[in-house]
Amino acid sequence: MADSTSTPHPVRTRFAPSPTGYLHIGGARTALFNWLYARHTRGQFILRVEDTDEARNTQDAVEIILEGLRWLGLDWDEGPATCHSDGESLGNRGPYFQSQRKTIYQEYVEKLMTKNHAYERDGAIRFRMTRDPVTIPDLVVGDVERRLTDREEQDPDFVIVRADGKPVFHLVNVVDDLTMGITHVIRGEDHLSNTAKHLALFRALEAEAPRYAHIPLILNEDGTKMGKRDQGASIGTYIDSHYLPEALVNYLCLLGWSPKDDSQVLNLSEVVQRFDLPQILRANAKFDMEKLQWLNGEYLGKLDPNRYRDLARTTFEEAGFDLASFQDSYLSEAFATTQGKTRIPTDLIDYAGFYFREDESITYNPEGAEKHLVPENLAKTEELRKRFDALHEFDADAIQTTFKETAASLGVKVRALVHPIRIACTGTTAGPSLYHLMAILGKATVLRRVDRVIQTIKAQS
Ligand code: GLU
Repeated sequence: MADSTSTPHPVRTRFAPSPTGYLHIGGARTALFNWLYARHTRGQFILRVEDTDEARNTQDAVEIILEGLRWLGLDWDEGPATCHSDGESLGNRGPYFQSQRKTIYQEYVEKLMTKNHAYERDGAIRFRMTRDPVTIPDLVVGDVERRLTDREEQDPDFVIVRADGKPVFHLVNVVDDLTMGITHVIRGEDHLSNTAKHLALFRALEAEAPRYAHIPLILNEDGTKMGKRDQGASIGTYIDSHYLPEALVNYLCLLGWSPKDDSQVLNLSEVVQRFDLPQILRANAKFDMEKLQWLNGEYLGKLDPNRYRDLARTTFEEAGFDLASFQDSYLSEAFATTQGKTRIPTDLIDYAGFYFREDESITYNPEGAEKHLVPENLAKTEELRKRFDALHEFDADAIQTTFKETAASLGVKVRALVHPIRIACTGTTAGPSLYHLMAILGKATVLRRVDRVIQTIKAQS
């Protein structure tokens, strides 16, 4: 196939969500692929809210979708023109709302009626569906031939305007794609079964249909279809738990599209350059939370330190920590020891909560305590405590030297000394660089916490 950048008309894609009250990860990926393809071809990406089902739609539900797209950085290009009284366009950027386009739909229904492609029965308007098989030339799935089902054989025509006057999905979807000059419809495979109807409508309207690219569904890790309530399905949960949008976008790029090599961490402008429809994978894509979180960690590690600090701060505050009493320099130093060490912001609470807790709120990891807070470590820990107390300059270098000298004088490895001290300071056996975290906590706090551990060990003997 020729490179699609050579398409004669400028490419126009659209994302056409129904406002259901949340933005599904599959919807976000559909939006992303449409956006990528429009950007790749220097075409336009249009947002159209399919809100004909008024009972279900609320302004809030629309806002959730817009918020999700903005958060992901998927900017759309145009909307219904808003004009000054002098006729100058304000350059409104949409989105389009189907609920505001009723007269357009009426016009097209009349066209279909006039040409005898549609007729009224029982108050509803029905479209005369072709009886012949319809071939859908799909850019992802290949040619799909669709014949009428047994049930449709009896009565293949379908309703385009209900008896209450409301136009039906198939009609408004096609009229919009036609009037908006959409050249490529990239949407979920669940719509493949509707596409014969859509092609028949385009033909009846004597218009060229867009090219279709149906993208495979997203499955849960167990292979079932990912529904609304499945873990990780809603974009809102990623926003709320402060995932990085660039990581989620990266992940969604890989979910059903492949850059041909094995790159995982992608540069979005490179993806824009390389993205093309024939590379969309035909197999259903399995959602992989581990991989998404790993990618998020990669992006967190590279984040601008100021942005990282703000993110970390918000995460702790939302978890109920009161950070107001800590100096900015303390927060910056503490957070700097965590950057690149966790996959998602909420992991920070376990990883670095010790910086902000009272001594009494440091609880010891049971396995670590059982292994390291033992009588044979008592003398070593007491010796270290004495030497820490004698330090004038309590910085990472001095602390490291103290560990080395203590180890040498006791004839043990440094490794044999660190665990009780780390557990004392943090409660666990893994975490940020020990010398640095001790320097940040400061001598007084470290000594108090080491004393607690010494008491704990003594209590056992
Ligand atoms: N409103 C439809 C949906 O949310 C869009 C179908 C399409 O993209 O054509 O599934």
